[in-house]
Amino acid sequence: MRNINTASGSVNTENMGITLMHEHVFNLYPYYKEKENTEYVKKQIEKLMAYNVGTIVDLTPYAKIGSYKNFINQCDINIVCAMGFFLDKYVPASYKNASVSDLVEKLSKKVEIGIGENKYKPGIIKIAASSSKLSDRQMRFFEAAVILQKKYKIPIATHSPFGGLEHLKTLLQMGAIPEHIYLSHLENEIDSKNFDFKIDEIKDVINNHANIVITNFGANDRGSRYKSSIRLIEYLKKSEFLSQTLISADSNWRWKGNALKLRDSQFNGAEKTYSYVFDFIIPALKKVRFTDHDINQMLISNPKRIFDF
Ligand SMILES: [Zn+2]
Repeated sequence: MRNINTASGSVNTENMGITLMHEHVFNLYPYYKEKENTEYVKKQIEKLMAYNVGTIVDLTPYAKIGSYKNFINQCDINIVCAMGFFLDKYVPASYKNASVSDLVEKLSKKVEIGIGENKYKPGIIKIAASSSKLSDRQMRFFEAAVILQKKYKIPIATHSPFGGLEHLKTLLQMGAIPEHIYLSHLENEIDSKNFDFKIDEIKDVINNHANIVITNFGANDRGSRYKSSIRLIEYLKKSEFLSQTLISADSNWRWKGNALKLRDSQFNGAEKTYSYVFDFIIPALKKVRFTDHDINQMLISNPKRIFDF
């Protein structure tokens, strides 16, 4: 056990409780929507509290945490804030051509002093790449993340819709500690045709001691996304890989004028709010005989272990 940084101060890993490891709390919103956006987030978090969730990990390193000050002051759940680098269009100009040592210095200040006037200290590093081949800039971002992971004992979360295994191998070559890395979106590469091939890659990720988080089970139990993700997680259970598996909703939204648009919820069925885990994923897992122990492992013990350096 150890103390980790959250938006409202340091929290012992013993007290994390049920933890959603891939969410977006500090989302971007147009300035005129502050009130509605804050209300929306508050309402969604209240629903999570009814499910006894203790901690939510925000993976939005480009959002302005300071603009959520009112929300953070009223929030009774632990929120882990992210620092790091998302896809190019979200990377601040001052990071774009910075050297690895400059990046480490900039982000070290965030950990030691905090972000913005309220000094929110990040507890996780996010990195992202959309293909297996990394650009020079992404290589610098990855290398800075590895140095920060070891310097401050902070987990790394990746955005890996393609090439996750390559991302992991690059991190490991740079000296990263795999037990405290988790990869997102690997399930999106799997379909009914390539399952056997893609599962080998995921097996490789697991055998390299890293973790994966599955967030996409589609919107209903008739779709191909649902079937492939259930097949994947059943495979992970059968192979005794659940100790390296996480589930979360990856709830994300945009404002279009006055309307809030939830991502991945354009079809009829389950909405991808934070509660998607409890309203949709867990009932689906129970149908394929997942036990409470399996679910608690993915939602309580694994998150704690990933933060417990
Ligand atoms: Zn996400």
